[in-house]
Amino acid sequence: MVNASKHPNIELFTYSDIIKFSGITGDYNVTIRKNPRYVNEKLCTGCGLCTTKCPINVPNEFYSGIGERGAIFIPFPQAVPKYAVMDKSVCIDCKN
Ligand code: SF4
Repeated sequence: MVNASKHPNIELFTYSDIIKFSGITGDYNVTIRKNPRYVNEKLCTGCGLCTTKCPINVPNEFYSGIGERGAIFIPFPQAVPKYAVMDKSVCIDCKN
């Protein structure tokens, strides 16, 4: 993943979904929806400090529900890019 993120001919669309796909090999049309992280990607250094301040604990999907994560979390240790993501469905907007 790190090598792909640094490759000059690869553009990563992370935290995104393919909405529509058509075409043939070498001539694709793809519609991509970039999901909001609710974190400023230009400011996030991936340090994880915000994840230690969050009072929320919900099952961690990456570990199949074993262990917990906060409402703000880094999806998994080797995430590329390493940005925090805020889960608005469980955030209580406590401003921690
Ligand atoms: S505002 Fe939301 S994400 Fe931030 S610490 Fe509070 S509950 Fe967690």
